[in-house]
Amino acid sequence: MIADFEDGGELSKRLPNYQPRASQVEMARIVTSHIEESKSACIEAPTGTGKSLSYLIPAVRAGKKTVISTAKIALQEQIYNKDIPFVQEHIQDFTAVLLKGMGNFLCLDRLETYRQETFDSETLENLVEKLGDHGDFEKLPFRSDLQMKINGNLEECTSKDCQFYDNCHYYNTKREAENADVIVINHTMLALNIALGGRILPKFDVLIIDEAHELEERTREFLSIKVTRGRYISLINNKKVQKAVDAKDLIAVNTQATELFDSILNHLGDYERQKVLIRELNGDKLIEALGKVRSQLQAEQENEEHYSNNASLEIDEKEASKKAAADYKKLVERTFNLQLATMKVCSACNQEEIRLISKLDDSKLEIACCPIDMSKLIKEKLFDKHETIICTSATLCAYPGNFDFFVKRVGMEPNLTKTLPHVFDYRENALLYVPKDIKQPEWNNQRDQARYEQEVADRMQQLVEYSGGRAFLLFTSNKMMNVVHDRLRVPYPLLKQGSLTKSEMIRQFREKPSVLLGVASFWEGVDIQGDALSLVAIDKIPFTVPSDPIYQGIINLIKRKGGNEWNDYNIPYVTIKLKQGVGRLIRSNSDRGVIAILDQRLHTKGYGKQILASLPPATRTTNIADVDRFFHPENRWNEDTW
Ligand code: SF4
Repeated sequence: MIADFEDGGELSKRLPNYQPRASQVEMARIVTSHIEESKSACIEAPTGTGKSLSYLIPAVRAGKKTVISTAKIALQEQIYNKDIPFVQEHIQDFTAVLLKGMGNFLCLDRLETYRQETFDSETLENLVEKLGDHGDFEKLPFRSDLQMKINGNLEECTSKDCQFYDNCHYYNTKREAENADVIVINHTMLALNIALGGRILPKFDVLIIDEAHELEERTREFLSIKVTRGRYISLINNKKVQKAVDAKDLIAVNTQATELFDSILNHLGDYERQKVLIRELNGDKLIEALGKVRSQLQAEQENEEHYSNNASLEIDEKEASKKAAADYKKLVERTFNLQLATMKVCSACNQEEIRLISKLDDSKLEIACCPIDMSKLIKEKLFDKHETIICTSATLCAYPGNFDFFVKRVGMEPNLTKTLPHVFDYRENALLYVPKDIKQPEWNNQRDQARYEQEVADRMQQLVEYSGGRAFLLFTSNKMMNVVHDRLRVPYPLLKQGSLTKSEMIRQFREKPSVLLGVASFWEGVDIQGDALSLVAIDKIPFTVPSDPIYQGIINLIKRKGGNEWNDYNIPYVTIKLKQGVGRLIRSNSDRGVIAILDQRLHTKGYGKQILASLPPATRTTNIADVDRFFHPENRWNEDTW
């Protein structure tokens, strides 16, 4: 199998310009031996390793049923649409399935119900026609508002009791996955599988978790218990619920849910913050009201079951009654789950959980109870249950060669940890510029803050002038992004996050020299090779906002356990984040460019030096003139290293 990666091997025969890379061969060797010996490994594989082939080929060659999980859709698409067809055609034939969540698929049962409710059947039938045989909303070239009305919904799906089960789009893909050699999923599906005790994925031999640095956050998101007002409203608006339950009891659920959500409004204060930590809430009356709904639904379920056993019924009547019984059974379960969720988000949390209110993108509110320490959960439900797990990413180590932060946060005890060498020549092709003269603003000093903002904007302006646009300006806050956006005076299009979709911003960025200004989502998973991206400028070290409730919960737990918030969390966390941001720049052998981090603390603080030691080994400078010389080599190179 290693022969595939070597000179004269299958890859060199099939891939134009292929050259064996030590990192890729080493990774393939580790994956092969760990699959053979049923062991686990953590591999930090720098950008350019070609890690997806390094695990895909060994898994396929070993003939083991493999699940590959990614955090980002871009990587998932690359693996499913590019790497898998390549290996199938040139290395070895095998079957593969991309397994997506139920919500991505048309639900034939909900469609039937909606057909009877809608006044616009033409639009509905057009959409159904476009969804064709696959029923996958993601394959449509447009977004449809109808998706939420007719897509699969775990809360409502009656699974084997559903009359459409045999033809269900979602279950068809699941059935394909049962027989596939390779299943590609995302971390959300992986977390769902953990939450549902393994009910989502079929039995598998090997699990590859790519972009594993996101595992903790993605799993927390899914293992949190959440309620929105919409969940209660959707239940009481259900036609079957309305038929079986006394109207006054449904009104009571509505009233109590409204009271609960009104009562949390004052916690949000100025309503500016996205997430707020809260104390206990009173949900007793709502839980009681849901209890009344549940018992009436249960009575209806029993009635239908009893009726369907009546021997004198016609076959059609019998089937209809059986279906109604299954629907009511699911509604009983759904109401019970909602009761439990209400109880959980309203009552006292244990020491390893927090309760918070979040303002969602559509301004609706959500109350959630989130686990803080994910390590126990992930260990018990994932790592202890499967022997052969490979976790990989370009950023798993907070310090060179040190995986402690990652493995502790996710509860992994790998048999091997390995950092592979850099593939690109950073020293030759990249310049890391960290100025010493932009002082961080004094806390709570507005004049100093204004001075700081101006200096950052001026320096970014200068950098963009030197690079001729072709720049990613990455920020730790929307505020700073807006400030710089408003002050930049450059002859290049400015693409600010939020003004267009992410994919459209990237498309325009690739088209002509531009300046892209982004926060959070542009720090990771964006792959722009070549001259289009030649400068990545970051405003400051991306520390988490101290008021973030999840961050507070994590820090409090670390302190309670006798740990140190800086060494055990803040520094490793920002190092990995910064490595991700910096990693946007050099994406291929021929890429050249400048990374600028406008944060003086990298020089003045002890942790700054630690962080710098973990960044790629680019030539380093504190002198802006070197940036000019880098982009315009006709000006003599005069490296000012520190
Ligand atoms: S099995 Fe579930 S998702 Fe599929 S059609 Fe039936 S209710 Fe919808």
